[in-house]
Amino acid sequence: MTDSDTPTPSEHSISVCPWRGDKRWVYSITFDEALSDLHRFAIPILAEYGVPGHLEVVVGQIGEVRRVGSSSYNGMKQMSAAELREMVARGWGVGNHSWSHGAVNADTADLELGKAKAVLEEAAGQPITVYCAPGSNVNMNEGALAGCRRFGYLGAMSITDALNRPDDEDLLWMNRTFLHHQGYGPFFSEFDPYRNIRHAQRDQGWIIDYLHCPLEVPVHPNKDCSADQLRERIATVVAEGGDDVWLAPVEAPMDYRYTRRHTRITTEGPDRYRIGAADLPPGVHSRTVTISLPPSTRALEVDGRPHATYRRNGKLLADLDLASSREVQIAPA
Ligand SMILES: [Zn+2]
Repeated sequence: MTDSDTPTPSEHSISVCPWRGDKRWVYSITFDEALSDLHRFAIPILAEYGVPGHLEVVVGQIGEVRRVGSSSYNGMKQMSAAELREMVARGWGVGNHSWSHGAVNADTADLELGKAKAVLEEAAGQPITVYCAPGSNVNMNEGALAGCRRFGYLGAMSITDALNRPDDEDLLWMNRTFLHHQGYGPFFSEFDPYRNIRHAQRDQGWIIDYLHCPLEVPVHPNKDCSADQLRERIATVVAEGGDDVWLAPVEAPMDYRYTRRHTRITTEGPDRYRIGAADLPPGVHSRTVTISLPPSTRALEVDGRPHATYRRNGKLLADLDLASSREVQIAPA
């Protein structure tokens, strides 16, 4: 082989895409308190646009009329176990919004994070790996986050108006942007259907929106938007995102970041690789990553069998389930 025949490393390298399907950015939307009145506007609007949602459940009051301090949402009914399961069947996700909506810290973690997780898993019929802090980021304190690690949560959601990124250092802490008629003081930010979208497009960001239960008018201007504003936001996400946005409940991009972080690619021979994601936390449910293949690839074999590829953004891609490590053989042109 002469020098000119030697492939450059980039020609023969395999890489893991920042997001599933090599999507450019990601959008999730979360509804705190998991109220039954979501059926009036939010659930039909999201269904119309094909966007899955995520429910944050106060576990000590599943199926009951809400009674939390002086909450604006007291008197509204929280979804029952049957309602939660129905939403799971529709592709929505479910997170723990604590047992009592009170203080979550080292002293209360057994109840607010531990017992709440077990009871919610029984109610929703699936593992719960997302914690959504009640109240404010005060409940994202070190004791609460240590409890999250101890009880096997993979993500803890704050209310911080910022993007999440594929390479964030701390995968447990997840930012959420408000989707409200008006932001909290001192800025009182006005409703913006484009909030963070351009930024997410540039930085391969993941937006997680946060609201409660949009009705004809916002229940509270600093805690919610109206149904019309929700429709405007969702229509904007879908129009601006097109084929470049991954619309997903919180768990899917969360699992993807863990799996991508743990993925190791080792060269085993000419055009042959071993790809695996060892030592993943047990709670990671979806272990599929999208790999980008050298452009010269003519065919792909995984564990000795032909494997589907597809093209996006001018790249040749393949989805690989790394529940166990895979033997990947590339047949170059
Ligand atoms: Zn809440």
